[in-house]
Amino acid sequence: MIIRIALLALACILAADIGWMALSASFWMLPAMLAGWYAADMASGVVHMYMDYKPSRAGIGLDKIFFYEGSRESAEYLALRDAAFSQLNPVERLIYDFKNHHPRPDALGRRSMVTQIGSTVLFATLPFTILANIVFLLFPLPLWLIAGVLTFVVGASFAQYFHGTLHRKDNPLIVRAMQRTKLLMNAEDHRRHHETLQCDFSTINGWSNPALNLVFNAMRRRGYLRDEGLIPN
Ligand SMILES: [Zn+2]
Ligand SMILES: [Zn+2]
Repeated sequence: MIIRIALLALACILAADIGWMALSASFWMLPAMLAGWYAADMASGVVHMYMDYKPSRAGIGLDKIFFYEGSRESAEYLALRDAAFSQLNPVERLIYDFKNHHPRPDALGRRSMVTQIGSTVLFATLPFTILANIVFLLFPLPLWLIAGVLTFVVGASFAQYFHGTLHRKDNPLIVRAMQRTKLLMNAEDHRRHHETLQCDFSTINGWSNPALNLVFNAMRRRGYLRDEGLIPN
């Protein structure tokens, strides 16, 4: 319920902002929006990299459900899963979900959009958008800058939905059109991440992957982002 209220609140704020923007549209909004779309892609990659390699909480049975070999609909599995998940806070749950995505990638594509984007909106993009709107109201910022920020918010909010589209075949027409124009990446662009787990963490359009791959490699050389973090124990 609280997630649906957060989604509705974000949609209302963005609709009001977009209406305000549309009244004074200018050429400079276009490059600013592309920069916002790039920044959202970068944010998706940074969060993904952190979640993949941040070790899960040990000793509460996450390894048992991660490696469970029987049916994932069995009473035994569901009991183990509920017992482990009941001990996790929302961020720890997300950290587990990112790791669980690697051996079972298509599960993300089967989830509803509300499930995919709910926690991102509730904990990140809605609070960010409220703060940003307070700043917009208090300071006379150029409208192109606001257009860029709003584009970032839209991209970041839908980041996990866009990731899900890379793991399903029946995507809506708008997603397929955006994939053809490279505003969104396609499943082939994302394949290398799943093959190596060491590159291409960004999942919106992939524009930031070259830069983020350099950051990942530099951090690995310094001993951060170690392989042990990829799997619950
Ligand atoms: Zn990953
Ligand atoms: Zn994936």
